[in-house]
Amino acid sequence: MDSGEGIRVVRSIVQRRMSMETTASNTSSIGRDRRRFVGVPKRCWCGKHIMELISKSTSNPYRRYYRCAFAVEQKLSNDPHIFKWVEEACLDEIETLVARTVALEEKLQRIGQGRQEFETRVEAALVAKVEEELLGKVEKLVSASHSRMKQTMVVVCVGFAVIIGWSKFVR
Ligand SMILES: [Zn+2]
Repeated sequence: MDSGEGIRVVRSIVQRRMSMETTASNTSSIGRDRRRFVGVPKRCWCGKHIMELISKSTSNPYRRYYRCAFAVEQKLSNDPHIFKWVEEACLDEIETLVARTVALEEKLQRIGQGRQEFETRVEAALVAKVEEELLGKVEKLVSASHSRMKQTMVVVCVGFAVIIGWSKFVR
């Protein structure tokens, strides 16, 4: 199972859980707690630590939950102190991880695309430079051959003049 498939599986679990939550919202901790806490709570907003307990209610027997220690001590109910089902907290953590993984994958993809664009640009610049150098060399060669041709022409002309002059002198 690759990471992409793993993420898809986790996503389907999260989606199933979301639809379950809307059909039976009374069993969700959102319904009981006005302060929605994402993930596993470490400490309540009141400053007290969090306890992990097991429900003894008839509607949620043996279901594990997190609860503010102060609320447990005072035996509070319908209060704003933290209450959260353990499996909901774990799913929150997974959701956060999935979101982070997706963001990382997108970032990696962007980096990959950027690298490809950069490589294409460097390649084009290199080709342009090589072409320029080649063109320069060809121009130099052409001008060199031109000047050599001129030199040859001068030598030939002087030679002819000398021959003509000499033939005149001989006659
Ligand atoms: Zn509290």
